[in-house]
Amino acid sequence: MRPDGPLGRSAPTADVEVDILIVGAGPVGLFGAYYGGFRGLSVAVLDALPEVGGQISAMYPEKLIHDVAGFPAVRGRDLVQNLRDQADAFSPQYLLEEQALTLDYAADGSVLVGTDRGRSVHAGAVIITGGIGSFSPRPLPSGSQFEGKGLRYFVRELAELADQDVVIVGGGDSAFDWALSLEPLARSVTLVHRRKAFRAHEHTVQQVLASSVEVITDVQVSAIHGDLDGATNGTHIEAVEITHGPTREVRTLKAQAVVAALGFTANLGPLLEWGLDVRERHIVVDSRAATNRPRVFAAGDISEYPGKVRLIAVGFGEVATAVNNAATLLDPNAALFPGHSTDEAP
Ligand SMILES: Cc1cc2nc3c(=O)[nH]c(=O)nc-3n(C[C@H](O)[C@H](O)[C@H](O)COP(=O)(O)OP(=O)(O)OC[C@H]3O[C@@H](n4cnc5c(N)ncnc54)[C@H](O)[C@@H]3O)c2cc1C
Repeated sequence: MRPDGPLGRSAPTADVEVDILIVGAGPVGLFGAYYGGFRGLSVAVLDALPEVGGQISAMYPEKLIHDVAGFPAVRGRDLVQNLRDQADAFSPQYLLEEQALTLDYAADGSVLVGTDRGRSVHAGAVIITGGIGSFSPRPLPSGSQFEGKGLRYFVRELAELADQDVVIVGGGDSAFDWALSLEPLARSVTLVHRRKAFRAHEHTVQQVLASSVEVITDVQVSAIHGDLDGATNGTHIEAVEITHGPTREVRTLKAQAVVAALGFTANLGPLLEWGLDVRERHIVVDSRAATNRPRVFAAGDISEYPGKVRLIAVGFGEVATAVNNAATLLDPNAALFPGHSTDEAP
């Protein structure tokens, strides 16, 4: 089982049986979930993160993407929501905060994927859309006891933080994107960063500096204060203590919410043990998006073939190819070509 960590929660799990298991709920996996449903197949989508959207949700939810066909510009968060809405027409099963660990085969040749929650997913075929590996947020060491009690690594809904004093920790794109989006609705937003220089896009940095957000540099979060022993579940954050590196001066900021945007680590680890043909941390596939293992396909950033281009637009086509080929494997009488979506009402 997964050790306790920023997302480490164990929960009772039931085994799952589906036609297609998609490993990775990034943009490519989400489009695969739509496509499986469109083909009349039952689909489960597994991701190590608590949120769907892969790199988009983790790293640039507020950025405009300009090279997705049909959208002159689409905010990352909106593209993910649209992909989810499109897939949800067919009610895929989402297994979130859960990592795929093992690959085995049942006697009839179907696939068994074991997860870090002790679950076994029994699938006719597996499509790996694992990007650069399973993501976990870098934890904020001084605040681990407040995880889920005011300290978060993702802002699921901006409205959750309305009228709160929010401290954002980090100096990259996510930290600055959250600061800009929360500034109009939070009571106050303070962004603290351990260095003077930021890694975020310069234009966003300038927007934040020109806003009411207080930006404090050269500081580390040394402690989070709050009520840990409340009689109810209402344990909460009351203040954040920051220490200035050069002077060791300590300052206390009033806060009810902390957003730790310290980046993510990606771990391809378990997938490397699946006996797949892996080249430079990518899974080699053929023109059907099939890997060297029976009933296992791969698409999106994780797949590799001559001339591969790692873009969302390319991944969408690859996962449609993977699902259609998997459909013919599951039912040898099924046509490879799915028909036109214009002829079907979901
Ligand atoms: C800052 C930035 C800007 C970008 N801008 C653009 C752009 O403008 N246009 C463009 O086309 N692309 C852009 N990209 C690239 C784009 O985000 C990727 O090509 C795209 O996200 C790939 O999608 P994916 O679904 O293949 O993988 P990912 O988005 O990486 O999602 C993979 C998911 O799989 C999960 N996963 C992996 N292994 C496991 C496992 N064993 N168990 C459970 N879950 C697992 C991960 O947690 C992750 O959520 C950008 C990337 C970055 C970082």
